[in-house]
Formats: sequence, C-alpha cells, structure tokens
Amino acid sequence: MESKFTEAYPKAPDEVKQADCEKVSGMLDLIIDGEASSEEKLYFNHHIEECVSCFENHQKQKLLKGLVAGHLKRVIVPKSLVQSIKAKIQETL
Ligand SMILES: [Zn+2]
Repeated sequence: MESKFTEAYPKAPDEVKQADCEKVSGMLDLIIDGEASSEEKLYFNHHIEECVSCFENHQKQKLLKGLVAGHLKRVIVPKSLVQSIKAKIQETL
C-alpha cells in the first residue's frame, strides 16, 4: 500500500515550483511590456505572491527596463538638434 501513496505524489513540490518559475520568467517580458493576456497576468501575479525569487526578478527587470527607457528618452534628442534649434532661435532674433 505504500507504493500507492507515493504514486499519488509523482512530483516533488520543488519540481512543480521550479516549472512554474520557468514559465513565469518566460512571460516576464510580456508582463513588463504590458503585452501579456489577462490569463497570463493572473497566473503571474498569483505566482509572485508566493514566490519571492520571481517577485524579486520582476522588480529587477522592471527597474532595468525603466532605466533603459529613461536613458533612451534622454538620448532621443541629439546635441546637433539642440544646436540647430538654438541657431534657428538666433536667426529669428
Ligand atoms: Zn517562482
């Protein structure tokens, strides 16, 4: 009867959790970019409520993307453009 008991639990809890983590880290980009479906968001949110490592992963990725986005906004205006605007202003003066 002992074998039947173990058959009811074919996977160790850790294995199941790790599979979830892989799934979650795979959809991390979609979540941050806001491109995940509501089902994926639900699954994701539910998982990071219970999984600290995925939660931290998400925070780090969000921070990283925020930094990159902020950096891109700054370099979007090149110096030459600023100078040509300044020149135009002086032309009109
Ligand atoms: Zn996880």
